[in-house]
Amino acid sequence: MPDNCLFCKIVAGEIPAEIVYEDDLVVAFKDIDPQAPVHMLIIPRKHIVGMNDIEDEDQQVLARIHFVAVKLARQFDIAEPGYRLVNNCNEHGGQAVGHLHYHLLGGRQLSWPPG
Ligand code: 5GP
Repeated sequence: MPDNCLFCKIVAGEIPAEIVYEDDLVVAFKDIDPQAPVHMLIIPRKHIVGMNDIEDEDQQVLARIHFVAVKLARQFDIAEPGYRLVNNCNEHGGQAVGHLHYHLLGGRQLSWPPG
């Protein structure tokens, strides 16, 4: 794990986070600065910098992230009326943390297009 990766430190338990789900491949926790009543981050345990760094061998973890998103959406009661699963990639995408993560947002009407 890279020395200075914030999310690797959360996975390792070195930085506290409100973990809502974890298994052998992924960890999900509440965002520290929520942009909606429900705002969680779903990340691979493995350090992958971002979407552009996904490799063939990562297909299972990517599928798991989607599966966990739906599971959490149901658990946190946002499956209906709906929610959004977002990945911000690189500078123009608005990515601030260099460890692949997907935002699960819900609990209010989300606008489109994004800013
Ligand atoms: P990005 O802009 O990279 O897509 O999103 C990074 C997200 O990580 C932001 O929504 C931000 O609030 C969240 N975040 C940054 N630092 C921490 C932290 O230490 N703990 C938690 N739980 N979330 C964080």
